[in-house]
Amino acid sequence: MSEAQVQAAVKSVAEKVAADYKNEVPLFVGVLNGAFMFVSDFLKHYPYDCEVSFVKLSSYRGLTSTGIVQTLLDVSEDIDGRSVVILEDIIDTGRTLKELVLLFSNANVKDFKIASLFYKSDVYNGEYAIDYWGIEIPDKFIVGYGLDYMELGRNLKEVYQLNQKHMINLVLFGKPGAGKGTQAEFLKEKYNLKHISTGDLFRYNMKNNTELGQLAKSYIDNGDLVPDEVTIKMLEDAVEKNADASGFIFDGFPRTAAQAEALDTFLEGRDMKVNATIALEANDEVLIQRLLERGKVSGRSDDQDESKIRNRFDEYNQKTAPLKDYYEAQGKFHSVNGIGAIDEITHRLGKVIEEL
Ligand code: AMP
Repeated sequence: MSEAQVQAAVKSVAEKVAADYKNEVPLFVGVLNGAFMFVSDFLKHYPYDCEVSFVKLSSYRGLTSTGIVQTLLDVSEDIDGRSVVILEDIIDTGRTLKELVLLFSNANVKDFKIASLFYKSDVYNGEYAIDYWGIEIPDKFIVGYGLDYMELGRNLKEVYQLNQKHMINLVLFGKPGAGKGTQAEFLKEKYNLKHISTGDLFRYNMKNNTELGQLAKSYIDNGDLVPDEVTIKMLEDAVEKNADASGFIFDGFPRTAAQAEALDTFLEGRDMKVNATIALEANDEVLIQRLLERGKVSGRSDDQDESKIRNRFDEYNQKTAPLKDYYEAQGKFHSVNGIGAIDEITHRLGKVIEEL
């Protein structure tokens, strides 16, 4: 989007707001960091008296569903009886907006409106009315004019869509003990990919006794799956933290239909996709022996008890195995014999990857 297109959109928002507030002095509240450029140019186009302030929120992504939000910078003005117009750079799913509305819910404002430069109407949850917006955009990841990608790009005058068509993203599929983690270690070196194991992420969080770790512990100890909403958020965070990767190996994710669908939607929004799902096949008796052996050295509680291992297989058969059909329908499912020497199996996987 050119600088002129962006500026025309900013001007149109300012004019619509001005038409409604010309007889009073509204308080414009910009949402940092993304909205700083929008607020600045908006004010240049706003012809009447107004005041301006900013808020900054940080939400602990990964646990947003529990609503843990920290206000890093609050509006210092007395806003009782005032007309407040929130100035946002972008309305996406509505998650941040909900937090903002909560922040203002105790104040006795005269009137509370929301103005956003960009608006993803396809994905917005519709919980609150968006009163003014500049441009409706599709669910793509955009950068520039205050909006960042890994904190970079905020200084661009234009707005760009992230191009990640060259990436390779693989899902390693298979039962616990199939060798997904072992193979991922080799494949990530060979193809310069980032390995994301949801099991490892949970174990890291449990070791550090984080809120996420505490939440996941009882599920993992019993060999049950951790609830989707927690797992999906954690995975999305891990991808976003590694936005400079040239591709990902997803190991242990997705494990349910909801996770597979969430992954597709999430990647699509970033112009990425799953290129292939590769299953490592092995029979249960081999896997149980492998896991019990691993349990002796790893100390993992879920590897040391055969009944827990069988429960993990049950979870797999019920919730994860059906994903084979999901990926087959997309023409992405490949299967590799997971029994043999480690390097032989790496070679089999490599053959599939190189044909992609
Ligand atoms: P793993 O190391 O992949 O075998 O995962 C160990 C445990 O972490 C699993 O038995 C689950 O309790 C939890 N876990 C890992 N990945 C997921 C996921 N995608 N969905 C739900 N739970 C998961």
